Amino acid sequence: MTPAPIDIPDEIRAQVYVHALAAFPAECCGYLVGARAGVVDAVVACTNAQDQGAHPTHPERGADTGFVIAGAELLAFARAFDGDRPPRVVYHSHTNGRAYFSSVDQDLASGPAYPVQHLVVGVADGRVTEAALFAWSDNAYVEVARWQGPREGGSTA
Ligand SMILES: [Zn+2]
Repeated sequence: MTPAPIDIPDEIRAQVYVHALAAFPAECCGYLVGARAGVVDAVVACTNAQDQGAHPTHPERGADTGFVIAGAELLAFARAFDGDRPPRVVYHSHTNGRAYFSSVDQDLASGPAYPVQHLVVGVADGRVTEAALFAWSDNAYVEVARWQGPREGGSTA
């Protein structure tokens, strides 16, 4: 049975897009918090510790190397699960413009490591191309929602 996607309001997703674009060509990561039921309503942007070891001459190799929340940010993230506004969605970007859950992502998140869904944002050429949400189902993360990136110039195509 496919899990239900957590409800992410458009304005929250827009804030994630802003972070993903600001971080480009690096990958961004962070998480969304909210009450234990219902929509998520705030974005917590983190530093991607993975990028500290990224390949500056091969930015495309960064697109599939995963993401790491580390140090004080990881501590705050882990502690927040005990509060009344826990992390419910973890997000990161892919700089090859594609929103999918890579094998590296599966390895990092499996267990699942935390009781969260994962939002992946595809960024390329300075714009968000697509985004998708993944939820734990039996023994792997599966896609439960997908969005096309905002179009430039107000086209509805
Ligand atoms: Zn990924």
